[in-house]
Amino acid sequence: MTLHLYYQDDQLIAPVEVLTCQPHDELFAATLHATPFHPQGGGQPSDTGWIGEAQVLRVTQEGQQIVHYLPQPLQLGLQEARVDEKRRRLNSRMHSAGHLIGHFVQSLGWTPIKAHHWPGEGRVSFKPGERPQAVDRIQVQRALEQWIGANLERHITMESGTRQVRFGQLPAYGCGGTHVHQLQELGPVSINSVSEKKGTLSVNYSLD
Ligand SMILES: [Zn+2]
Repeated sequence: MTLHLYYQDDQLIAPVEVLTCQPHDELFAATLHATPFHPQGGGQPSDTGWIGEAQVLRVTQEGQQIVHYLPQPLQLGLQEARVDEKRRRLNSRMHSAGHLIGHFVQSLGWTPIKAHHWPGEGRVSFKPGERPQAVDRIQVQRALEQWIGANLERHITMESGTRQVRFGQLPAYGCGGTHVHQLQELGPVSINSVSEKKGTLSVNYSLD
């Protein structure tokens, strides 16, 4: 089982131990004892970066292992891993904005069912609870502006083995993704549309 370094801290550079490295299609697949790389999943794209001199092109969760795909083989043993900062930052901002949309729309009686925090395609989907209220795009926009303006701080706790992430006093979400420390790191978020189709409400958003 690969340990997730990014669960506890946001260190983008870390010493790592390469345990295995095997040819895989045109690439090489490597596993580490513990990794700072976030794999694709939970609505969030994977981190990229480097292990030693080798570029990490994509990272996936495969069962209990996190697998790093590289164009060249890695020597086993100690190496330095570096996560691409620009991409991580953008993914964390997109993902954190998705939390806020989830909180606000949930407060109007909707249950989040799916989140897609990919740049250019940001979307959170909801199904109606017992008494769902109408959701207005401007209202969502204002709620986010208020929380971002208050610069709420991120808190991460582990509860019965589940990682809980919350901003300020907003409710916590069980979540394995990466997030900003403070909401002002988000910058302006645009709620582009709120639409309803076959009972599913979709909120589309982007970062400016
Ligand atoms: Zn999250």
